[in-house]
Amino acid sequence: MNSQLTAYITLICTSGVLNLYLCLYVFAKRHHYNDIARFFILYTGAIAVYCFGAAFGLMSTTLEQMTFWTVIQYAGMPFSAPLGLLFIMYFLGKNITKRLFAALLVIPFISFIMVATNHWHHLHYRVFEVDPVLGFPYIYQEIGIWYVIHGVFTFASMFVAFLLALSHWKETARVYRPQIFSLVIGQLVPMLTAFLYLIGFAPQGIDPVPMVLWVSSLLYLWAIHSSRMFSIMPIAKDTIFNSINDGVMVLDESCRLIEFNHGSRSMFPLLNKSMFGMDFNKVWFELSGDSFPFPLETSVVTKELKLTIDGSERIYQVRTSPLHHANNRNGLLVIFTEITELKMLQLKLEHQAYYDELTQIFNRRAFFQMAEQDFAAAQKVSSPFTIILMDIDHFKSVNDTYGHSVGDQVLMHVAKACEKQLVEGMIFARYGGEEFVLSLMGCTAYEGEKLADQLRKHIAAQPLLTPEGVLTVTLSFGVAEAAEDPEETLNQLLIKADKALYSSKREGRNQVQVYAGT
Ligand code: GH3
Ligand code: MG
Ligand code: MG
Repeated sequence: MNSQLTAYITLICTSGVLNLYLCLYVFAKRHHYNDIARFFILYTGAIAVYCFGAAFGLMSTTLEQMTFWTVIQYAGMPFSAPLGLLFIMYFLGKNITKRLFAALLVIPFISFIMVATNHWHHLHYRVFEVDPVLGFPYIYQEIGIWYVIHGVFTFASMFVAFLLALSHWKETARVYRPQIFSLVIGQLVPMLTAFLYLIGFAPQGIDPVPMVLWVSSLLYLWAIHSSRMFSIMPIAKDTIFNSINDGVMVLDESCRLIEFNHGSRSMFPLLNKSMFGMDFNKVWFELSGDSFPFPLETSVVTKELKLTIDGSERIYQVRTSPLHHANNRNGLLVIFTEITELKMLQLKLEHQAYYDELTQIFNRRAFFQMAEQDFAAAQKVSSPFTIILMDIDHFKSVNDTYGHSVGDQVLMHVAKACEKQLVEGMIFARYGGEEFVLSLMGCTAYEGEKLADQLRKHIAAQPLLTPEGVLTVTLSFGVAEAAEDPEETLNQLLIKADKALYSSKREGRNQVQVYAGT
């Protein structure tokens, strides 16, 4: 055996041993791995069979031996290319159905049968002999029709796998690009070797592909290990990561975007993988047309953020949470929870709790909450505090004559007319049916009386236009100022104002009376 042949056999055996080792190693650990392990086991197993077949073939001393080892080679080689394709498809997250799996293995299976039965039909090799010039173990072969089919299929499988890996380059996270690179090279190496062999740039009488397959296998193993695709936990974490509705973005220690989940993609349609590696503030600018409204803290912080996306205003709760990596590399999680609906509901409930539905001014509850505070504050500094109670005159007859809905319009009309006359700091509310209340912090009864009279005149001078005709509305007013008594309560003051109101009614309505202490 010459030294060149020894070198070939050594190289081929290296590929065989390495693939066998990888196959057994992954097989032994298959329980820790996900489904990709199965493809890897089959793929490396097929290559190992191919390589050992080729190596033993090169040690043959008879044509029978050469034929036998060629059949063994074909128990592996035709399967390795489609299995490599399936492996890459799985790696890239493609759906592999049982039907596809079976379909891809039909031609390899036929090739194996063809080679095993070639002496009957000569469809794979028209001629298969010992090379007349080089002698054992070199082969002289003339190819048959099935060889062409097998060759095209094998080459196409490798080429498709190569293109698939290459086409994922752009959309692959930067951190996983070396893995894609290794897949591309892993396909390219045997493909190029096979091509060189076909065009006659390889040693004659010998298939050089098994000599280089160890390169591909090593690259693949590194790819799946370093991209964590073998283990189940990261896959589970990825699934959880992508299944949550919150938008999660992962930033590295320099605040560059390195990952985001499906949730963020649906929240921010402009977000895409080409933004990986981009500074977060720049990413945010591209997404929202604005700069990020607050600095990214490296502690747990929750803030609210308003954003207009596709013309509609959305509200998000933004949480930042630091990540501490074992090798001292820190990062940051930015989590977006859409709270637009919740916020709207909260605002609506708040509004309902404090505002009167019909007139849209404060209701009785809101009045008491706010006026109690003002009253206490005024008492504390002995500042005057005045209450005006007002009641629509003969409102019942408005309802009776024109109907309830005109009555409602009158209530709205009065509320609006009064509101226009008020200044900040006054608390104006619907006190009950057709009664309104006004608290005046820092005002005396005299000032209250003046304001009440101004309101009275203003409303009386503004008749309401209804479909039924013009309606003049008048109100009666009762004014009362808090006594210089720290024991007095807001309720007592309201009772005084009510008494004054009652005397306005008694004295003929459409007038203002000030509580005089009786
Ligand atoms: P007075 O001049 O003495 O105040 O007579 P009045 O008719 O205004 O007083 P009364 O208390 O007898 O009638 C108040 C009416 O207000 C009775 C009630 O049906 C009506 N009312 C209370 N709330 C509403 C409302 O929200 N809408 C309408 N349309 N009517 C209301
Ligand atoms: Mg009343
Ligand atoms: Mg009334």
